[in-house]
Amino acid sequence: MGPKVIYIQKQLEEKIENLELFPKYINIETRNTCNARCSMCAIDFDNRPLITMKQELFNKIVKEISEWKDHVRLVNLYFDNEPLLDRKLHLRIKELKDAGTKRVVIATNASALNQVRSKELILSGLDEIFIGLDSLKKSVYEKIRVRLKFEKVINNIINFNIIRNKLKGKTRIRLQMIYQEENSSEVNDFKKWGKKYLSPNDLIVAHKVHNWGRQLDIKNLTTDKFINSIPCTAIWSNLQIHADGRVALCSNDTKMKSKHTLGYANKSSLAEIWNGFPLKKIRERHLKGERSGYPLCDGCTTWRPNNNFSKFGVYWSVQKNNKSFYSMKQKILYELKK
Ligand code: SF4
Repeated sequence: MGPKVIYIQKQLEEKIENLELFPKYINIETRNTCNARCSMCAIDFDNRPLITMKQELFNKIVKEISEWKDHVRLVNLYFDNEPLLDRKLHLRIKELKDAGTKRVVIATNASALNQVRSKELILSGLDEIFIGLDSLKKSVYEKIRVRLKFEKVINNIINFNIIRNKLKGKTRIRLQMIYQEENSSEVNDFKKWGKKYLSPNDLIVAHKVHNWGRQLDIKNLTTDKFINSIPCTAIWSNLQIHADGRVALCSNDTKMKSKHTLGYANKSSLAEIWNGFPLKKIRERHLKGERSGYPLCDGCTTWRPNNNFSKFGVYWSVQKNNKSFYSMKQKILYELKK
């Protein structure tokens, strides 16, 4: 077993044979649009036709996930979109939970997280809500999260916490900041804010901004000189399905007519796509140190291992401030495996 395989197994805490059976993490885009135009996002929303995933396709995906329910760690009903723009989102979450999915999460900008939607999500059985709040300063926030209103989002987050606690809901809040030049001085403010407005089981997470497979020219906050010699862990762990059924290489693969398409969930099973030739070939080339052969992967910093913050980001629990990332990550993984 070569060092690259050992690296993947260590990062994903699983044997490679198991990882190659079926994805551990699945992202589903149920409506391919967004109400924001964030400065660190490379998705070209203005040039895509609006598509909502057909219920028939969604049912097919849920059925297959339920057949692998002991294997799949997490399903994220978010992928290259704002999930709350799908008015049926809470019903889809419930369908996944009823099918035995261990953990169902969404990642949202919280702009449409009003009281009605909050209640629906909590009652649907949603396990965790990742909320992107990149600054606690109105001017910085609105510069990063273009089109969104700072006060509205802050109120929505505070209210979600209150409603969740009133309903005795189990949905954990994971407040996220994409650490970048504009907000680099705010990490400690986030921790303090979380302690004041969130609850003991919630999390504050900081991830460094990435370059979307070199589709975005970001100010690089880490030295990623050797990135092309490291295999990307996402191709052994994550499967992403667009609203029209297209299975993308990863979250950076946002174009409707992408050359990296791995298959179509309306035509093949997810297992067939996960074990299909296109993905097998990409994995093989990553293991050979040839990822620069794929334009998106060449120099991509999305899943970098040498982040200054450690492997993927920094996690603080609201309850125990300053808890180290690693033990927090272990705790999260442990919960996912339960
Ligand atoms: S290296 Fe980047 S572009 Fe390639 S699969 Fe990984 S995340 Fe996607």
